[in-house]
Amino acid sequence: MSEEETLLARTAAEFAMRRLLPGAAERDRTGAFPTDEVLELGRMGMLAMKVTEADGGAGTSNVGYVLAMQALARACASTAVVVASSNLVGKILAEHATEAQRERWLGPFVRGELGPASFALTEPKGGSDAAAISTRARLDGDAWVLDGEKAWITSGTGAAFHLVFARTDGEGRDGISCFIVERGTPGLVIGREEDKMGQRASGTTTLALESCRVPVDCLLGARGAGYSIALSALGAGRVGIAALSLGIAEAAFDAGCGYAESRVVFGKALTEFQNSQFVLADTRTELDAAWLLTLRAARALDEGERAGAETSMAKLYATEACGRAVDRMVQLHGGYGYSREYPIERLYRDARVTRIYEGTSEIQRLVIAREIIRRAR
Ligand SMILES: Cc1cc2nc3c(=O)[nH]c(=O)nc-3n(C[C@H](O)[C@H](O)[C@H](O)COP(=O)(O)OP(=O)(O)OC[C@H]3O[C@@H](n4cnc5c(N)ncnc54)[C@H](O)[C@@H]3O)c2cc1C
Repeated sequence: MSEEETLLARTAAEFAMRRLLPGAAERDRTGAFPTDEVLELGRMGMLAMKVTEADGGAGTSNVGYVLAMQALARACASTAVVVASSNLVGKILAEHATEAQRERWLGPFVRGELGPASFALTEPKGGSDAAAISTRARLDGDAWVLDGEKAWITSGTGAAFHLVFARTDGEGRDGISCFIVERGTPGLVIGREEDKMGQRASGTTTLALESCRVPVDCLLGARGAGYSIALSALGAGRVGIAALSLGIAEAAFDAGCGYAESRVVFGKALTEFQNSQFVLADTRTELDAAWLLTLRAARALDEGERAGAETSMAKLYATEACGRAVDRMVQLHGGYGYSREYPIERLYRDARVTRIYEGTSEIQRLVIAREIIRRAR
């Protein structure tokens, strides 16, 4: 790790323990969006970490980003995913915004003046097949008029603006474009929050676009470039979710180790039973393997590689290893693992969605297989 990466990881860990962990269980209970915490993270530059210094950002490497992401997720996965989706937006804006859009949105966003932003691709009829979206945008004078519905949008409630993907031309991939839609735009209706199993404070909502008019300069990137814009950002996004799942898994592992040390059954600490030792050994081994895949993918991105297979392998393996880790740690806790009194119960629920969003495990397998076959030819 470079000095900057180590420092960023330490700063994120300190913030996470001081500002996120104390309220995490309560936010999980009430579903309250972490507004103040996210605004503070914004002022620290953590909502757009990878934006370069030329654009006012810190120019954090992907390695630095994954270290920060896992540190935040160790304390509060809901806040971490809000940060992850904002960083996805930051990267897209930095890569595609015009000078005017940089001044109007990117600058204030990077400085933390706006708060979080959302990435609105998925629709109620399907998320895996991103090319099949049906939200439409048509030109009407000096405005684009958007109609359609987005589903499962992280920070739908708290976002200052949304990157909305909509169909401008035809039915193919080349017919999709990307728009900046600000909070409060007439015709943008934020739906009610989803009552989710885990990551309950991430403000997940639908977004309805009902003749929603946005000025022509809200088109981000070229007309028809929306699909490639979305896909190009997802590689780095997937490594971030791998790291987020590692944060959850590390918190679960710590909880399991601590509990196994203190719990006495049959006159012995749990750690003295070989089964507990094997559970801890298997979990640690899998988490270390997940770390190595995640850091390899992040490093490859830092070296300018597309790393399609590597980022998907990291996401697939880390999120599935996280699922096994939280399950084993609940088991190690016995009945107490099933009680809301112990953090492991929340971690178990928070972990599940990491195998679903930002491309399900099945979609990661498709990407990996496609890449293996392409490279073999
Ligand atoms: C809490 C949460 C937050 C989210 N945040 C965002 C967000 O901020 N922005 C956003 O745009 N989206 C977001 N999503 C949406 C998420 O990315 C989608 O849920 C995900 O991509 C899967 O899409 P789907 O739910 O429509 O499932 P479907 O696409 O309907 O898939 C259903 C099942 O079929 C499987 N499947 C689909 N296609 C194939 C195939 N070709 N081969 C094998 N199996 C297949 C899938 O793996 C899955 O198991 C979020 C979702 C959740 C739950």
